[in-house]
Amino acid sequence: EAAPGRLPPWLRVRLPADAGFAATAHTVAAGSLRTVCRGARCPNIFECFSRGTATFLILGGVCTRGCAFCNIAAGTPDPVDAGEPERLGAAVAELQLTHAVVTSVTRDDLPDGGAAHFAATIQAVRAAAPGTTIEVLIPDFRGYPDALALVLDARPDVLNHNVETVPRLYATARAGADYGRSLELLARAAGRGGPVVKSGLMVGLGETEGELAEVFGDLARAGCRVVTVGQYLRPSRRNLPVVRYVPPGEFEALAALGRERGIAEMVAAPLVRSSYRAGETAALAARA
Ligand code: SF4
Ligand code: SF4
Repeated sequence: EAAPGRLPPWLRVRLPADAGFAATAHTVAAGSLRTVCRGARCPNIFECFSRGTATFLILGGVCTRGCAFCNIAAGTPDPVDAGEPERLGAAVAELQLTHAVVTSVTRDDLPDGGAAHFAATIQAVRAAAPGTTIEVLIPDFRGYPDALALVLDARPDVLNHNVETVPRLYATARAGADYGRSLELLARAAGRGGPVVKSGLMVGLGETEGELAEVFGDLARAGCRVVTVGQYLRPSRRNLPVVRYVPPGEFEALAALGRERGIAEMVAAPLVRSSYRAGETAALAARA
């Protein structure tokens, strides 16, 4: 385990909040919306909010799973808020986002896992902000192809689903998920054509370079064009400890490894999160 309470210098972020930050925070709150940026205590929040970027969390703030790395509350989720897609569309329009990222908690309690709500949100964002590209970061929908099809039919520009870590660590980090099922979901999405398919994972949980190389190869074969890799940071004492802080130079080596294994766009750096600079990456991947 890495020394608790001490972050290496490359992970310390101290940036003042500016007017863009305040405006984004205000619009999010006014629409009774949630962001992952706050919920997951993302270290990029000042940068992203100041640039008018945010990742919206739909379908409530309580998850039916409860992964050991994640800070989102687990338990009995809130009822689905039918007005949420429209409010989210209005917020995207007000913030004039060029690229909107929408994700959710996992809703194993809903028959479609929340897929119809995702589809409604994509449609509402497109109606309110036709020039904005839309990225959805979806749960695995327990592998139901019909749920995935509902989301794909709404034509998101980017379909993102994170494998999060190497398969050996699923039992400790991502109980309730299944590596093969996640790969299959990505392959199905890529097989349909249309969206840029994207995935991501964290490092610092005890994985080896060989295991990461295998995962990059699996993702490339599944049709993933973009892969994000960032340092796992323990969001609270209840979460898994950090096994290792990976130095910045190793991220560059991982990016090269991913490209070598067939991923077109590798986004790898200590503070990279699934949605970090997502718009720029999506545009690059769409051209690749
Ligand atoms: Fe939000 Fe993603 Fe930016 Fe983090 S990287 S602040 S989650 S948009
Ligand atoms: Fe967090 Fe997603 Fe795991 Fe739920 S399924 S606990 S939201 S990472």
